[in-house]
Amino acid sequence: MKILMKTPLVEMDGDEMTRVLWQWIKDILILPFVDLKTEYYDLGLVERDKTDDKVTVDSANATLKYGVAVKCATITPNAQRVEEYSLKKMYKSPNGTIRAILDGTVFRAPILVDGITPYIPTWTKPIVIARHAYGDIYKAVDGSAGEGKAELVFTDRRGNKVTQTIHDFNGEGVVCAMHNTDKSIKSFARACFNYALDAKLPLWFSTKDTISKVYDGNFKKIFAEIYENEFKEKFQNAGIEYMYTLIDDVVARIVRSNGGIVWACKNYDGDVMSDMVATAYGSLAMMTSVLVSPDGIYEYEAAHGTVTRHYYKYIKGEQTSTNPVATIFAWSGALKKRGELDNLPDLVDFANRLEKATIDTIEAGEMTGDLVPLFKKEVVTPKKLNSKEFLQAIATRI
Ligand code: NAP
Ligand code: MG
Repeated sequence: MKILMKTPLVEMDGDEMTRVLWQWIKDILILPFVDLKTEYYDLGLVERDKTDDKVTVDSANATLKYGVAVKCATITPNAQRVEEYSLKKMYKSPNGTIRAILDGTVFRAPILVDGITPYIPTWTKPIVIARHAYGDIYKAVDGSAGEGKAELVFTDRRGNKVTQTIHDFNGEGVVCAMHNTDKSIKSFARACFNYALDAKLPLWFSTKDTISKVYDGNFKKIFAEIYENEFKEKFQNAGIEYMYTLIDDVVARIVRSNGGIVWACKNYDGDVMSDMVATAYGSLAMMTSVLVSPDGIYEYEAAHGTVTRHYYKYIKGEQTSTNPVATIFAWSGALKKRGELDNLPDLVDFANRLEKATIDTIEAGEMTGDLVPLFKKEVVTPKKLNSKEFLQAIATRI
């Protein structure tokens, strides 16, 4: 008998090669075992264009309603895509739209397998990057300056002004003003503390408050207050620690660590460091990503994109060996969370078995082409499978 579900998952379908893998993962790894309940939203570019991107907003609102979503990678249109798909306009990134509605923090964690050694071989445990997904340079106002004075002016609701000189320019230059809000920083802090408790991992938070005394200092202060008032006891009971230090100090410590840490990063730091960490662990295709909102809403996805180059081979009829692991883990993560929330131990158990079967398959030497050159294990010779063969090899082990 198939495993039953209570509440549907919000299913967000996507584009290109990952859309193909999406269907295969469901057909081969999930539907034979689970009486799958989802509320389906097609975030493929064709449907987004047809609905003037309303489908993206609807899917995010459904996530607010149900609490757990699983998302396929989607195209963020640029000028070339507008032409390729004859789009009505250049739509915004679906992930950006969803994040703005759910107000979350993005956690990225590598999937480790025996046989793939990170470029930093002492990283034997995962490093989870928690990236603040609001503000700073991503919502900055910038411009060029010529000879003259650039000023920062704050006007309060009564019209009182505080003016600071940014720089007196004697020639050409550039200026930039950015912001963040206490509300968003607080929800970032709570999401990080909750995730660390859930994963039972220590939390490190870093900024550059020695230089940016007010701006970064505010991040540091908010984290310290929330820790002290809401999480200190819970951390002590769980036997994990919270540490604040400077970003350059964390970079030095991380390299010397064994992993097993949640590293909370401001928006830009998280953007940069998550690519560094993903690469060091071996492959972007082995990196999971989950958006956690302050109200405990979860959206699971793979960290990589739609793997366009493979898709064009696929539509020419060629076999591709695209790695589905991060997308499988998006499904298992979402099913596991749904099982926990709905108190369905069989569903949680299935999700764990699916993850173990995936890892066991690779460790037994059966994998997609991207992993073959990375794989080194005594007595096991890695064998390259195409995507479907790989999924079938996993299914036999569930
Ligand atoms: P990408 O799809 O992640 O692919 C970049 C390259 O990384 C691929 O060409 C491939 O290398 C390798 N790769 C990534 N995932 C792989 C996998 N699962 N298996 C095997 N190899 C994999 O990034 P992109 O080419 O920059 O972007 C393509 C599209 O994805 C864009 O339209 C972008 O907007 C979108 N995107 C979406 C998301 C998201 O929805 N979260 C994130 C990023 C990008 P080789 O070609 O060398 O095999
Ligand atoms: Mg980046």
